[in-house]
Amino acid sequence: MHSPSLLFNDAALIEADGEHLSPSYTRHLPLVVHRAQGCYLYNASNQRYLDFAAGLAVCSTGHAHPKVVDAITQQAQRFLHVSSSDFYFDLQVALAQQLKATLPYMGSGAKVYLGCSGAEATEAAIKLARYHTGRPSIIGFYNSFHGRSYGALSLTNSQVKYRQGMGPFLPNVFHAPYPQSEAAVEHCLHQLEYQLLAHTVPPGEVAAIIVEPIQGEGGYFVAPPAFLLGLQALCRQHGMLLVSDEVQSGVGRTGRFWAGDHVAGWEPDVVLSAKGLASGLPLCAVVAKEGVMNWPAGAHAATFGGNPLSCAAALATLNIIEEEALLQNATAQGEVLWQGLQGLAKAFPAAQLAVRGRGLMLALEAGGLLPAYAHLSLPQQRDALLTACFERGLVLVGCGVQALRLCPPLVLTTPQAQEALAILQAVLAAATL
Ligand code: PLP
Repeated sequence: MHSPSLLFNDAALIEADGEHLSPSYTRHLPLVVHRAQGCYLYNASNQRYLDFAAGLAVCSTGHAHPKVVDAITQQAQRFLHVSSSDFYFDLQVALAQQLKATLPYMGSGAKVYLGCSGAEATEAAIKLARYHTGRPSIIGFYNSFHGRSYGALSLTNSQVKYRQGMGPFLPNVFHAPYPQSEAAVEHCLHQLEYQLLAHTVPPGEVAAIIVEPIQGEGGYFVAPPAFLLGLQALCRQHGMLLVSDEVQSGVGRTGRFWAGDHVAGWEPDVVLSAKGLASGLPLCAVVAKEGVMNWPAGAHAATFGGNPLSCAAALATLNIIEEEALLQNATAQGEVLWQGLQGLAKAFPAAQLAVRGRGLMLALEAGGLLPAYAHLSLPQQRDALLTACFERGLVLVGCGVQALRLCPPLVLTTPQAQEALAILQAVLAAATL
């Protein structure tokens, strides 16, 4: 029997996809992936694309890292699935122990819940916070993204298209402003404490504040430490749980294991992980401080949660991060990219380029139109830049309203970082002529 992809050429496959698959998939670029290795994707003609999207910040150890493939293969030969609601297996325990070791302040009695996706992690956190505190309300932030299931979507508001036509949402979910600069911290904390908690929802009814330490889909805005620590103080004062959504920023992406590790004194009660955790297999983890995960048997679970293959891939991922010093690499290559992007900002003043993010979680946003795109809006210019980069062999995705997102695998090399910068430079130069 032929592999299904051999039945179509790429153009026919894209057409058939439109005919048979949900139109809700955005599909920015006409790329049919035939294979992927390391930091590259390949099409049917073996044309190579440098992958700075990494499956939406998922392929942390690169595509098909041999040690991840080996771990999955070995586990597949043992067993593919055991429902973790019913039976025990070694890999879940090993993974929980290793994740707890990355969050030592949570205490030896910290507990780990394993599911399949970022949205599932958010759902589990909402349910856990309500169960643990006995309170109904949840506070999230404007411009945040926590997933698309109803609880997660009720918190998410980075773009109106995610919510349009989907209401009503979960009741008792409130939003507060998130600072996009140091200067905004005081205002945002003031709005939360003296507007939201004073006028709209009593703090004693709030189960949790859920925050991304770096907003992901919202545009790679890094929360200033004073903001995060201000939230923490409010949570402690009012007995609300502090949930840090590290679905996108965690597992080494910023050069520390958790983005929160950059903030001295940051000790959230619950940390959410998914995306990069299993290098491409579906897995999420909710790690809760000692005493927080006090729900009883049957309170929460999912048939596929903590799947054996995903756990094997996650354990291999954690080993590779250690063995290949990927935290150090994310810092080093992040610095190469940061300097290069700053150079582009100087070289193309008309584009008014802003660079933000940390490690290998970087965004490049144009605040001005380049001559070739003068007839477009800024979001349209961003999409045109994505296409122009793709035509030169660089795959990127957008974030926020008009930013380009750079989230390559953590195994990126300096020549690959320079290759991406050279493509961006050529694209900006061509648009400036
Ligand atoms: N939380 C954050 C911070 C995310 O960036 C995302 C996805 O982009 C999610 C949650 C939802 O993850 P998933 O798409 O796996 O449901």
